[in-house]
Amino acid sequence: MAEKQVILRIKRRQGPKEPVRWEEFALPWRPSMNIIICLRDIAENPVTRDGKKTTPITYDSNCLEEICGSCAMLINGKARMACSALVDQLEQPIRIEPMTKFPVVRDLAVDRQFMFESLKRVKAWIPIDGTYDLGEGPRMAPAVQEVGYPLARCITCGNCLEICPKVNEHSQFVGAAIVSQVRLFNMHPTGAMHAAERLEALMGPGGIEDCDNAQNCVKVCPKGIPLTESLAAVNGQVLRHAIKSWFRGRD
Ligand code: SF4
Repeated sequence: MAEKQVILRIKRRQGPKEPVRWEEFALPWRPSMNIIICLRDIAENPVTRDGKKTTPITYDSNCLEEICGSCAMLINGKARMACSALVDQLEQPIRIEPMTKFPVVRDLAVDRQFMFESLKRVKAWIPIDGTYDLGEGPRMAPAVQEVGYPLARCITCGNCLEICPKVNEHSQFVGAAIVSQVRLFNMHPTGAMHAAERLEALMGPGGIEDCDNAQNCVKVCPKGIPLTESLAAVNGQVLRHAIKSWFRGRD
């Protein structure tokens, strides 16, 4: 009986400015294969389906359990994590492409620096001055913790930016993940001390007003983060902050 195979079509590019080419691979099927296993199999024997020797595919991955966020790519046209994309659940040939909203480094590896710069822009951290023992932090009500915990699960994969029509070359929109982190840090009792700075960072170009409420982001988040709730909540915070600032300016 013929050996069961997995057929993959992979979009490749030697470098950011190099021409695009597609390569097809046929791999022996094994139970529980995911896309990272396929890419590793290709690396062990980089030969295309028609027998041509090629190079291993370049891609990012690390934790292999949907925690590090690095293996996001387009699989059969959908932005998702390669480590949790099981071959048996995918239509073949499986089409694999790099994400389109971030610059391609090579093959499937992209540069997500825009997201990290955006996190810096909104100060997505709790500033603690010094390394000395600050004692216990302020207590948080369980109800607040329950809202915050899902937001803290963001892995900066970029899937929500990939699917967002407002993240494009004509806009600076930071994307839902970053807005959601503003919500998370603003609800923390210590983080709230810098809430105004975070909200002001979202008031200019690329801020919350650039969201057109397409609501695609929430559908592709591998961590099930309630992104549309975050967008609505932060939009309200920004509006209240703008009104307060306006009245203060009239004093
Ligand atoms: Fe990824 Fe979800 Fe975070 Fe967006 S919000 S970067 S989809 S984990």
